[in-house]
Amino acid sequence: MYNTIIVAVDLSKDSQNVINKAAELAGDASKLHLVHVVEPVAAAYSMDIYAVNISELQQEAINFAEQKLEKVGGELGIGKDRVHTLLGAPGPEIRNLANEIGADAIVIGSHGHSGWKILLGSTAIKLLHGATCDVLTVHVGDEED
Ligand code: AMP
Repeated sequence: MYNTIIVAVDLSKDSQNVINKAAELAGDASKLHLVHVVEPVAAAYSMDIYAVNISELQQEAINFAEQKLEKVGGELGIGKDRVHTLLGAPGPEIRNLANEIGADAIVIGSHGHSGWKILLGSTAIKLLHGATCDVLTVHVGDEED
């Protein structure tokens, strides 16, 4: 049904459910692209932190996510060229990636780190607005963590 599918993961424990559903949908790992978006560290703080080198911290977060994502991708047979660690706001970054690579579907969890209390995770909602391909939400995150 789909030729190029993006799987968006927040690297939480529910990510595996999202990946499994996407792999089932794809039938073939060569159709899958894996993406994680690292949110800018500075955006998490409303004040300057003089004791911390923000850009170093940012790079560490990117390196950590990149390694984790490549490991997950490797286990699924997804080559490094189809594993994307991006920096920015998850919704727009995932949408941009979908446009860039001509994805025809995006698979995302209904909830994640930030959204387990509400009906649909905020990333899913933000992604839906302006998406130019199908977006499949995988139901996850029932248990409180
Ligand atoms: P949330 O908005 O935190 O409830 O997350 C809902 C879903 O959006 C998650 O299950 C992931 O599939 C996806 N998601 C959330 N944050 C990210 C992120 N930083 N990078 C990629 N996907 C994400």
